[in-house]
Amino acid sequence: MKSIVWFRQDLRLADNPALAHAASKGAVVPVYILDESADARAIGGASRWWLHHSLAALAKSLGGLVILRGDPRDHLPKLARETQAQGVYWNRCYEPYAIARDTQIKRRLTRDGIDVASFNGGLLFEPWTVQTKDGGPYKVYSPFWRACLQLPLEAPQPAPRVEVAKTDGLGVALEELALLPVKPNWAKGFAREWTPGEAGARNRLEAFLDDGLNGYAELRNRPDLPHTSRLSAHLHFGEISPRQIWAAAMARAEADKASRKDVEKFLAELGWREFSYHLLYHFPELPERNWRREFDAYPWTADTKYLAAWQRGRTGYPIVDAGMRELWATGYMHNRVRMIVASFLIKHLRIDWRRGGAWFWDTLVDADVANNAASWQWVAGSGADAAPYFRIFNPMQQGRKFDPDGVYVRRWCPELARLPDAHLHAPFEASQDALREAGVALGVDYPKPIVDHTEARKAALAGYDKVKAAPAEADA
Ligand code: FAD
Repeated sequence: MKSIVWFRQDLRLADNPALAHAASKGAVVPVYILDESADARAIGGASRWWLHHSLAALAKSLGGLVILRGDPRDHLPKLARETQAQGVYWNRCYEPYAIARDTQIKRRLTRDGIDVASFNGGLLFEPWTVQTKDGGPYKVYSPFWRACLQLPLEAPQPAPRVEVAKTDGLGVALEELALLPVKPNWAKGFAREWTPGEAGARNRLEAFLDDGLNGYAELRNRPDLPHTSRLSAHLHFGEISPRQIWAAAMARAEADKASRKDVEKFLAELGWREFSYHLLYHFPELPERNWRREFDAYPWTADTKYLAAWQRGRTGYPIVDAGMRELWATGYMHNRVRMIVASFLIKHLRIDWRRGGAWFWDTLVDADVANNAASWQWVAGSGADAAPYFRIFNPMQQGRKFDPDGVYVRRWCPELARLPDAHLHAPFEASQDALREAGVALGVDYPKPIVDHTEARKAALAGYDKVKAAPAEADA
C-alpha cells in the first residue's frame, strides 16, 4: 500500500508516528505544503528562513519530498489521486485554524475512500488528556504540570526504514517557495547561530546536556551565560520531539544523580510549552483576545514612534535594547530578556501586547502561536496564571541582576562597552565625566531614555486602575 505523509510541524524521521505508521504499510509519498490559504496565519520572516533550511535537511534525509504551495484542502485530495495513495497520515497541530482545516481535509479524504489517521507527534500530553477533577481544563500551571507528571508517557521511537515512492514531476523546487530573504538579506547572521534540521536538533540537545544542563536551575535566567538549551525553534518545527528530549534528559538524571534538580527544572520548562498548548486548545482566542476580559478596558496608546524605538533597540534602556538587537541579529532572544522587553513595551510604553506579539511573530525563529500568545498574555497580566500587572520590571535592576558583569549588554550594545559596570545598565545616570571617558555621547552614540522609568510606572498603574474598575471575567 502507498500512503502520503503530510509533514507540517514534525520535520524529522525519528519518533514521527505518522511516518512510522505509513512506512509500516509500504511506500511513502512525503509532502510538505506551504499553506497560503487566506484563512491561514502566514509564517513570519525569520521562521521562513528556518523552514527553508529545515525542509532542505528533511528532503535530504528522506531522499525525496514533494513540495507544494497553496491550500492543503485542494492539494491533498489531488495528490492522493495523482499518486494513487490509499492512505494519508499526519501528526496533529493544535492551532485553531489547523484543527478546522485538518477536520475538513479528513472528512473530504474519507469521503474519497482514503484511509486517514492523525497522531501525537508534537506534545508530551495532548490538551484533552489533562483534566481537572471536574473534567475541565487547567488554568493554573503548577497543578497542570503535577497532573501531567501522573500520566503515562510513551517512549520515543527510532526512525523507521522508509521506502520513498517515485514522485517525478510532482511539486515545485524548494527555491520556488521563496522563503529566504533577499535584498536585503537580513538573515546573514542566522547561519552562524543555527543549524536547522533533525541532525542540528540532536546535536543541540547533546551539547546542552553535556555543557549547559549543569546549573540550569539557577543560571537559566542569565542571558550572559550558555545555560539554556536553545531548542525552541527545533521544537517548533518538530525536528526533535518533546518525548525525545524527555527521554534523553531523564537518562542523564539516571546516570548522574546530581543533575536531577537541573533536569526537573528543564522538563518543567517543557511543561510551560505543554501548558501554552493546553490553553490555546481550550481558549482558541488566546492569540487575539485577553484571557482576562477586564483587560479589554486597558487604555493602550497607539504611539508608533515608541513602537519603532523598541523594535530597533533604541529605547535608551540597555538591557531592553540588547534584547531587541539580539532578536534582530539572530532570530532569538533569551527568555529572561523576552520578559523584560515585553514588560517594557506593555507597561513602560503602554503598547498593546498584541503588537509586541506580532513583532516577535515576524522576527523569532521559534515563533509559535501557543507559546507566543501565552507568554505575552503572561507578561501583560491578562493571561491565565499570569504575572500580576502591577509588578512592573525595573529595567535597570533587571539588567544588574541578570547581566551583572554586563557581558550581554556589551555584546549587543557595543557603543556602551567602555562604560564601567556601575553605569552600564543606566547610562543616563552616569556623570558627564564618566560618559566622556567611556566615549559615549548620550543622544548621539546611544539614545537618551525614551520614557522616564518613574513616570512611566505611574502612568502604567493609572491605566491598570481602569482594568480594576472593569468587571472581572475570565474565559471559562
Ligand atoms: P529552555 O530554557 O532551554 O527551555 C526548553 C524548552 O521549553 C524551550 O525550547 C521551549 O520549547 C520551552 N519553554 C521554555 N520556556 C517557556 C515558556 N515560558 N513558555 C513556553 N515554552 C517554554 N517560546 C517559543 O517557543 N516561541 C515563541 O514564540 C515564544 N514567545 C515568547 C514571547 C514572550 C514575550 C516570552 C516572555 C516568552 C516567549 N517564549 C516563546 C518562551 C521562551 O522565551 C522560549 O521558549 C525560550 O526562551 C526558548 O529558549 P530555550 O530553548 O533555550 O529554552
